[in-house]
Amino acid sequence: MEKTLILIKPNAIQRGIMGDIVTRFERKALRIAGMKMMFLTDEILAEHYAHLVERPFYPYLKASMQAGPVIALCLEGAEAVETVRQMVGVTNSRKALPGTIRGDFSMSGEQNVVHASDSVENALVEINRFFKEGELFEYESAVTRFEYGGEETLKYIK
Ligand code: UDP
Ligand code: MG
Repeated sequence: MEKTLILIKPNAIQRGIMGDIVTRFERKALRIAGMKMMFLTDEILAEHYAHLVERPFYPYLKASMQAGPVIALCLEGAEAVETVRQMVGVTNSRKALPGTIRGDFSMSGEQNVVHASDSVENALVEINRFFKEGELFEYESAVTRFEYGGEETLKYIK
């Protein structure tokens, strides 16, 4: 099934809301395929935010992402990439809709609580960036048949 990459940013860990964030994904019936705490090196950050390294705010973004460890999460579900981006909300938390993670937990465009992959293609690259072989787990959810309908099971789960 489709997988996506989330980073719970240092600001969320400092503010003690990582549990609330993980709970939202659990309640949504996304399967947690991998989870780890790590410090981000200059190299991994420059790769992850390659589209932003030349921007004037990059030094601030870098400092905020290295202010403490992050939690990397690999989540799995039908159309997980798009679904999680919708759950996260737009980049500027002040503009993010209530009910989204950024909309409910942040006032900032920078310290916006989480990263989420923005396309299926990028999700594959990002999952490989943050998880090594053996750090992702395949296990059957005991309640999948209560989470998805029959037609969806054929289409997404196989
Ligand atoms: N960011 C920022 N100022 C900006 C745009 C982005 O500080 O004007 C930060 C913010 O933390 C954001 C991250 O850079 O989450 C990555 O930016 P991107 O455009 O990829 O947004 P996202 O995919 O996180 O919504
Ligand atoms: Mg992005």
